Amino acid sequence: MNKIWLSSPHMGGTEMSYMQEAYDSNWIAPLGPNVTAFEEALEKYVKEEAIVACLASGTSALHLALIMAGVTSGDTVLCQSFTFSASANPIRYQGANPVFIDSEITTWNMCPVALEEAIKDQIVQGKKPKAIIVVHLYGMPAKIAEICTIANEYDILLIEDAAEALGSTYKGRKCGTFGDFGILSFNGNKIITTSGGGALVCKNEESKKRAIYLATQARDIAAHFQHSEVGYNYRMSNVLAGIGRGQMEVLDKHIGLRRANQQFYKKIFSEVPGITVFEEPNAAYFSNHWLSSITIDKTKTGFSREDLRLSLWEDIIESRPLWKPMHLQPVFKNCAYYGEQIAETLFENGLCLPSGSNLTEEDRMRIESSIRKLF
Ligand SMILES: *Cc1c(COP(=O)(O)O)cnc(C)c1O
Repeated sequence: MNKIWLSSPHMGGTEMSYMQEAYDSNWIAPLGPNVTAFEEALEKYVKEEAIVACLASGTSALHLALIMAGVTSGDTVLCQSFTFSASANPIRYQGANPVFIDSEITTWNMCPVALEEAIKDQIVQGKKPKAIIVVHLYGMPAKIAEICTIANEYDILLIEDAAEALGSTYKGRKCGTFGDFGILSFNGNKIITTSGGGALVCKNEESKKRAIYLATQARDIAAHFQHSEVGYNYRMSNVLAGIGRGQMEVLDKHIGLRRANQQFYKKIFSEVPGITVFEEPNAAYFSNHWLSSITIDKTKTGFSREDLRLSLWEDIIESRPLWKPMHLQPVFKNCAYYGEQIAETLFENGLCLPSGSNLTEEDRMRIESSIRKLF
């Protein structure tokens, strides 16, 4: 039996020709025509006059956003607790202190009430936060209008981690374009992939120029190599950008397929009391449904998320618990946290199900019969 993956790369077909172009023209470099064309395609896609810089990963994009936000040693940065560790690690790269914020139950993302409480309390302690990192988890847009209002009111820079949310919208506007900076990821498991890669979504050309300068070892304008600042090697490869160009041609189609997966799970679980499929709270939200996820109330189902996960694994079907919140991670154990137990409860009861845009009808039948074994 083949393994059914949680989310695996899904090529559209034209990626190879763009990579071949890079090879034939000898543009085997961390810049070049594919990088430029991929950036242009992303700008056209997210709109809102966004200026995009393609980078080595989503993590490096987040790191550069924090550097450009002026975050340095000892600063406070507010970060959504319910997320993948890559959202929080770059705060530490800068020697700054992450302060984690709980989620709210409708979008599973940053709770605006807990956010404001944290800001007020940190200001009282004389540690006004330098930046806020909000995440659109599993493709679901956060309560971004409220969060933007709070960020403006307290004059704190907003970074949107849209690594999982390319193509998701709130009131028709693409995730990644609301904050001062947005970040995207093209890692192997994301909605489109370049095997590894990411992008920084900027508000203007100057920001992009600064990002590229930092991403290419911070070279001064001089024929000899001269540097006045610490630089990084964070630019995207022109070979990999070729994959990205091809993937852009199938992005909307793949979002449609991911959304169809979510509908498939809604149908299976509609008759099962105690299982809730994660969905948009109302029509203002449009999720790419990167990963279809469920929460299980085991007092009603009689089985836990671990029971379901292990049962699926017996049939070589991969599923995964929801992200373990950052405030519960050993590496961040001394960090401050504001909120209740929303993120913690989601982690205990939630499961991500196979969600690739490349799932076949046969895969779906296997998944369905495996799930039905439990009820
Ligand atoms: C994948 C991911 C990242 C990091 O992206 P990489 O390209 O893997 O560095 C950041 N945040 C979230 C929420 C992610 O899922």
